[in-house]
Amino acid sequence: MAIQTVDPNTNELLKSFEEMSVFQVDEAISGAVSAFATWKQTNYEQRAGLLHTVAKLMRDQKQYLARLITMEMGKLISQAEGEINLSADILDYYADNGARFLADKPLAPEFGKAFIRYSPIGVLLGVEPWNFPFYQVARFAAPNIMVGNTVLVKHASIVPQCAMAIEVLFKEAGAPKGIYTNLLISGKRASMLVSDKRIKGVSLTGSEAAGASLASEAGKNLKKSVLELGGSDAFIILEDADIDKAVEWAVVGRINNNGECCVAAKRFIAIESVADEFITKFKDKMANLIVGDPMDAATQLGPLSSEEAAVALADQVQRSVDAGATVLLGGKRPSRPGAFMAPTILTDLHPGIPAYYEELFGPVASFYRVKDDQAAIDLANDSPFGLGGSVFTQNIERGKLIADQIDTGMVFINHPTWTQADLPFGGTKGSGYGRELSELGIDEFVNKKLIRVC
Ligand code: NAP
Repeated sequence: MAIQTVDPNTNELLKSFEEMSVFQVDEAISGAVSAFATWKQTNYEQRAGLLHTVAKLMRDQKQYLARLITMEMGKLISQAEGEINLSADILDYYADNGARFLADKPLAPEFGKAFIRYSPIGVLLGVEPWNFPFYQVARFAAPNIMVGNTVLVKHASIVPQCAMAIEVLFKEAGAPKGIYTNLLISGKRASMLVSDKRIKGVSLTGSEAAGASLASEAGKNLKKSVLELGGSDAFIILEDADIDKAVEWAVVGRINNNGECCVAAKRFIAIESVADEFITKFKDKMANLIVGDPMDAATQLGPLSSEEAAVALADQVQRSVDAGATVLLGGKRPSRPGAFMAPTILTDLHPGIPAYYEELFGPVASFYRVKDDQAAIDLANDSPFGLGGSVFTQNIERGKLIADQIDTGMVFINHPTWTQADLPFGGTKGSGYGRELSELGIDEFVNKKLIRVC
């Protein structure tokens, strides 16, 4: 894939970038190795100081950085500013809590004394997607830099200016060369790098295909990997839910980030007795969204990240209709320039229809009616993915019981699946393995060394 900035609001090519040569990549890896030798000797206070400075610079440059995001992948400008705040929060969170998370953990063995010491493992490769160009990088880089590892980041080819801006932030913050290095290369070359003996672990956020490619290389080379992949979250509306509140959150859950969230609410499952009320109100709100330029503060739904993404989503909808799905709303590309897709609702879905099992990465909602709680749980679990999910009910205990039976990494009660620095994030099944954020997120690429005193 060419490394380019293309404005998805107009599909205009704004800038192209040269991929790094094999020699440049080799130099970058060597630089990260040299930096590791000194970075691992620094103390937590020094590492926290760097992360706090990067966070401050991010906040200081929020408007500029947010515009880069919106220009390269089409996120609404207000949400892009929110992403910068969230990313800075993640940097601060690990700076503030990292030393506590990584402190020696005393053990109580039957004989003698022992404790666990946390040590860094070396140079890591992070492969990141375009949908949250700063947040995804922050949740990989911040905990690992705090641990004492050094990171190489291969960002998505459609957000090169965001990728470069993050590297500049680390440079401006005074990070020694090699602590954080951007690799301007294709995805295929990222997988080929995994066998390099100097790289000790890999983390990928993206599609199942990319995850499988990177993880199989990691497996062959006996390296640790963390995968944060796709999702098709169920959004369950029980008959005792506050329907107006559920509808508000359903719209946000589906169209946040123009529908391009791994944890977007994608499958709306309503108990029969409230299904009509829910779908009537949901359809009305989806139909009245203001679609337009993501730089315009009035816009509620912007373009997808690229023309390819819009074509692929429209094709999924068409293939689903051809296989028997009903279009309740939208279903087509709007007649305007740019990578847009109309807000869409599909019904009458069953196995065999593409939209039943495939992830719909954009403003396309699937709607289902079920007779009771068990049917809702069974439908929610009938997915190759296991990322997030939500249950709407006024009975919190009933919500917890259902949450317990949903096979995903995260379930929210009365809210779409969401993210913040101190909550773990990750999935089961085809959504990957490992966790990012919270204390769990700092635990993936560390040597938990047993030290026994006899
Ligand atoms: P993608 O194609 O897999 O791209 C993600 C990253 O992987 C990019 O940097 C891409 O580079 C790279 N890549 C592509 N092929 C690769 C390969 N064979 N080996 C190594 N790296 C490779 O993902 P996408 O379709 O653009 O992004 C959307 C997907 O990410 C969705 O499925 C979404 O649900 C998932 N996602 C998951 C999470 C989560 O936390 N679970 C968060 C956000 C997104 P190029 O750009 O150069 O191709």
